[in-house]
Amino acid sequence: MTAPNLPGQPYFAYRGNDLFCEEIRLGDLAQAHGTPLFVYSKGAMLAALAAYQRGFAGRKVQICYAMKANPALGVIQVFAQAGCGFDIVSGGDMDRVLAAGGQAGKIIFSGVGKTRAEMRRALEVGIGCFNVESEAELDVLSEVAVAMGLRAPVSIRVNPNVDPQTHPYISTGLKDSKFGVAHERVVPTYQRAASMAGVRVVGIDCHIGSQITQEGPYLDAVDRMLDLVEAVEAAGVPLQHIDFGGGLGIDYQGETPPDAGLLWQKLLARLDARGFGQRQLMVEPGRSLVGNAGVCLSEVLYLKPGEHKNFCIVDAGMNDLPRPALYQAFHQIVPLSQRQDAAQTWDVVGPICESGDWLGHDRALAVQPGDLLAVLSSGAYCMSMASNYNSRGRAPEILVEGAQAHLIRRRETMADQMQSECLVESQARK
Ligand code: PLP
Repeated sequence: MTAPNLPGQPYFAYRGNDLFCEEIRLGDLAQAHGTPLFVYSKGAMLAALAAYQRGFAGRKVQICYAMKANPALGVIQVFAQAGCGFDIVSGGDMDRVLAAGGQAGKIIFSGVGKTRAEMRRALEVGIGCFNVESEAELDVLSEVAVAMGLRAPVSIRVNPNVDPQTHPYISTGLKDSKFGVAHERVVPTYQRAASMAGVRVVGIDCHIGSQITQEGPYLDAVDRMLDLVEAVEAAGVPLQHIDFGGGLGIDYQGETPPDAGLLWQKLLARLDARGFGQRQLMVEPGRSLVGNAGVCLSEVLYLKPGEHKNFCIVDAGMNDLPRPALYQAFHQIVPLSQRQDAAQTWDVVGPICESGDWLGHDRALAVQPGDLLAVLSSGAYCMSMASNYNSRGRAPEILVEGAQAHLIRRRETMADQMQSECLVESQARK
């Protein structure tokens, strides 16, 4: 590969005028599969995972890929083959992990609204742990497990009341958040859990938020978690594992989040200092494993210069890539083939009938209709939040491995979209 020339995207680089993913020209993939199209680099995913593995070298750790970031079977398969466990938040997530070859025993089940049916199925397949988010959930889980003659392995998700200094929609560890058990209720909740017939306490966990770019909130959360471990164990409830959640940010626009390897070495020094270094540890990274391993390719449909704004209308929209509309998130947008013409300033917008359907504001681009663009950092929370809004089929996904391109999801057709619907029979006969 040529030297990386897109910050934060070492597996996507220009060779001459053309943007490549590993050994493959992205323009060739767009030609073959159409646009919008998601392209992921397997090398980038494994490199991101390797940073965590370096940070935890020599420790007992289970890295559980938070698959909500990107639940494609072909992506799950990469992490399953690399030995990862999985953080899931629904029965559907669990089915995906099992279908992609993940091990049930390495699944941890997070989420505030698990249903009885999901609990039953998770117990049947033998998942590793339920990350329980409330006392009410604990009661139901125990009841379900007792009815099956089992004890559910449980970790309580605690709310350490730490501000992750990120977007409010992705802050989860503050006192008023719907997630986790409040700090002051943690010890009594563990005492109750330990006395329940259908529960086996195995651990403790927290997750303070996502796209965290500073180490401070992590260090605070670690300290508060270790205080809680001491308090829970002093109350007579031993804990086998400590799970620090996910949340490490990525470079979308020049952010400089800590390297996972270095961050974990630092956190482990804190654990060692307090005598917890040899515990079974867990982490649940999502975005930092896949976010910068993916791009979304899109074609310029029309240019619409205006008095105050110039619009570059592309064929990918908020249904494909909801982050800008949802969080005002920034994604770099670059051409697949660089033009030598002078750049103009464009709002890059999608075809959807919503003013919120934009991918980037005020971008300097030299573009013409028919040109292809790449929306960078699209590996996490893009396809996983894609929808059929405006009856648009979901885009295909390609996993690149060196010079090989694997189609891991074909483009969704109208027949796919309509297959679960039907007309009202009495009216259809009229
Ligand atoms: N764990 C839990 C419980 C989460 O809710 C999330 C995401 O919101 C994650 C892990 C993954 O976070 P991230 O993708 O920021 O690493």
